[in-house]
Amino acid sequence: MDRDAKKMNDPLDKSAPRDGFARTIDYLRLSVTDRCNLRCRYCMPEEGVDRISHDKVMRFEEIVTLIRAAANVGFQKIRLTGGEPLVRRDITKLVRMIRDIEGITDLSMTTNGVLLEERAQELYTAGIQRVNISLDTLVREKFLQITRRDEFNAVMRGIDAALSVGMHPVKINVVLIRDFNYDEIFDFVQLTRNRPLSVRFIEYMPTNGAQAWNTDMIVPMDELLSTLSTQYEIDKLDKRSGAGPSVDFKIPGFSGTLGFITPVSSHFCDRCNRIRVTSDGRIRSCLFSDDEAHILPLLRGGEDLTVIGDFILDVLKNKPKRHSITSGRIRTCQRSMSEIGG
Ligand code: SAM
Repeated sequence: MDRDAKKMNDPLDKSAPRDGFARTIDYLRLSVTDRCNLRCRYCMPEEGVDRISHDKVMRFEEIVTLIRAAANVGFQKIRLTGGEPLVRRDITKLVRMIRDIEGITDLSMTTNGVLLEERAQELYTAGIQRVNISLDTLVREKFLQITRRDEFNAVMRGIDAALSVGMHPVKINVVLIRDFNYDEIFDFVQLTRNRPLSVRFIEYMPTNGAQAWNTDMIVPMDELLSTLSTQYEIDKLDKRSGAGPSVDFKIPGFSGTLGFITPVSSHFCDRCNRIRVTSDGRIRSCLFSDDEAHILPLLRGGEDLTVIGDFILDVLKNKPKRHSITSGRIRTCQRSMSEIGG
């Protein structure tokens, strides 16, 4: 085992922890609920969703304890996700509580945007300065088809609200599915013409919710780039180290940027810097590994921050070197993104 992976939980040492493969892991994606106000076909079934019972969902105080322990061992970045984080009651209060935790330098959220118009200002004031909004189509009828809810206009207003309160960057996450929205890529590019949006095309992944998934649905980055190049000059942007997994581009003269995230066709596990925590307090060190470490009993048992921090460091030791989606036979994970926290 690498020496860094055995790092002791020393309250004076705030350097970021490393996993067993010497990757710096300082980013925690935290699902605050498994509930969602959409029912995206590739993510959740319409009916019969097994919901985590309320008494098992981490309370705000427990979340704060978890994040304080993570910050003590060197975590700096937190993303709130779900389910849909904006359906969690008093989410703004949680944002304020996390903002005040020493050592947390970056607090963001992934949302479907449906409730963002009414919450953008209070979230921004509370500490969410940047946001990722999921939007897979720019056609209202197709939005209804894929999400099973008629909320397209609300999401578009949510995007405008995020920009107008000053959130930056505002990223639009588009899961690209060949027969569903590949024909809309130029419309998505147009979103970046006059608005400082970062549109990111993400490969469709074989999670548990993605029942219809097959490799033909994926549009590899090379193909996407060559299609876009038929109409635009596209400049590749330099990547600052520690930035996310996207490969970024810009069309000269456009206000926004484009990004490509390729977890399936070209994984980026060697640069992985994150772990995830489900809303019922299970740490997943890899999206595609179903190994989960139950941290809720420690949080409820009143353990002190050092014990909880050491537990997190132990999880890092077992973080897999890479995901197993495409190693040999295609493997999916046992939970959907709405349960894990996308
Ligand atoms: N409700 C929030 C939202 O919609 O952004 C956060 C949770 S949602 C599960 C997070 C992201 O996971 C969304 O962008 C969604 O499109 C993405 N997602 C869900 N299932 C996916 C899959 N099979 N492949 C790729 N992305 C997926």
